[in-house]
Amino acid sequence: MLTNNLYDINEHNHLTIGGVDALELAQNFGTPLIVYDVARIKQQLQAFQTAFAQQNIDYAVSYASKAFAAIAMYQVVNQAGAHIDVVSGGELYTALQAGFPMDKVSFHGNNKTPAELLLAVKQHVGVIILDNFYEIELLNQILQENQTKIKVMLRITPGVTAHTHQYDQTGQEDSKFGFDVRSRQATRALKMVLANSRMDLIGIHAHIGSQILEVEGFELEVQALMQIIKDWSQQYDYQPQVLNLGGGFGIRYTAQDQIIEPGVFVKAIVQAVKRSASKYQLSIPAIWIEPGRSIVGAAGYSLYTIGSRKDVPGLQSYVNVDGGMGDNIRPALYQADYEAILARNPQAAAVETVHLAGRYCESGDILIDQQKLPASHPGDIVAVLATGAYGYSMASNYNRVPRPAVVFAEAGQSQLVIKRETYADLVSHDCFYQQKGGN
Ligand SMILES: *Cc1c(COP(=O)(O)O)cnc(C)c1O
Repeated sequence: MLTNNLYDINEHNHLTIGGVDALELAQNFGTPLIVYDVARIKQQLQAFQTAFAQQNIDYAVSYASKAFAAIAMYQVVNQAGAHIDVVSGGELYTALQAGFPMDKVSFHGNNKTPAELLLAVKQHVGVIILDNFYEIELLNQILQENQTKIKVMLRITPGVTAHTHQYDQTGQEDSKFGFDVRSRQATRALKMVLANSRMDLIGIHAHIGSQILEVEGFELEVQALMQIIKDWSQQYDYQPQVLNLGGGFGIRYTAQDQIIEPGVFVKAIVQAVKRSASKYQLSIPAIWIEPGRSIVGAAGYSLYTIGSRKDVPGLQSYVNVDGGMGDNIRPALYQADYEAILARNPQAAAVETVHLAGRYCESGDILIDQQKLPASHPGDIVAVLATGAYGYSMASNYNRVPRPAVVFAEAGQSQLVIKRETYADLVSHDCFYQQKGGN
């Protein structure tokens, strides 16, 4: 089997995923189809974990499951010994169904509902990341009514935000998440929580952005947070056990993206923490990170069948596939870039540049605006690479198109992990309207 960094092929020159021929996968499960190379998911989790272990520091790698949440995914994460982040009752429920240990769950969100907080308390989730004053009140009430305690962290906005390749060190205050530091909201929250005997404040949390491809943003984040810890240690005699630095580690979507290995990120982070700790004479906290995209992104492939095409003389042609914004809204939502290959021969020479377009009724439903393709025909299977994060998890039933199936492939075997929706599924929540008056 020939291998390059982005994908593997077999002796027929076909794309393989987890050792399984992609044409076979399309044949057996239909398209559109999301396929994960499970070994790549495990490798990424392990790369982060190993890097921390080598730095000789307490840590947790908490998979941000909003990138792709499913029972099978929670099983894989659990097997790797990692933690998870959840951001809704639905994700929490799915993790429960998967048998995921609740003490390794961090519950996030800027507007958790009373019912969600109650579920989290009843299930004894590991930690609730407090986001705002209303939530502190709500949680306090729930803890009192249930006569129980829970671990919490404070999510703060330290004044560092990553905008892809730049770091904004002032503009964070208008974020919808977390307690603002500069206006002293964070300090007020700290005092409230320290005074609350039902809340055990184990740490502080920040998340500076996503698809970050430099270590600098994390170093700035560490410096900002360690300075806050120094202030809190001096003024309130409080030092967190855990410093949670969030996620945002970037992946390769196209050849333009220069990736940074998990180990490089981790080393830079740990060293920045150690530098600041020694500068301010603080003890070294456990470091938690919350990678989502970097765990599942590159492991995921979207397989589509090519159907119609539109050629207009002098203009770039449209090659249309049987999926699109319903299973991957990222290109339409934020001009995300992807690359695609023909599954029957990924290395065939390109003969044209086309718009790889989706089937949905929106002009913006273009999966890839400029895709080089070899000669292609209706019925050919095209694979969009690195669609594993925020693809299926953002899928919708727009145009009443059933959501695709999801398959896990590993060691030459494939297994359905989310069934394809049927038309019956689509109407299963519809109710007939009992018409009032008239006919
Ligand atoms: C979304 C999110 C993450 C994961 O971000 P990635 O870019 O997918 O790594 C981690 N932490 C928090 C709080 C988030 O909201």
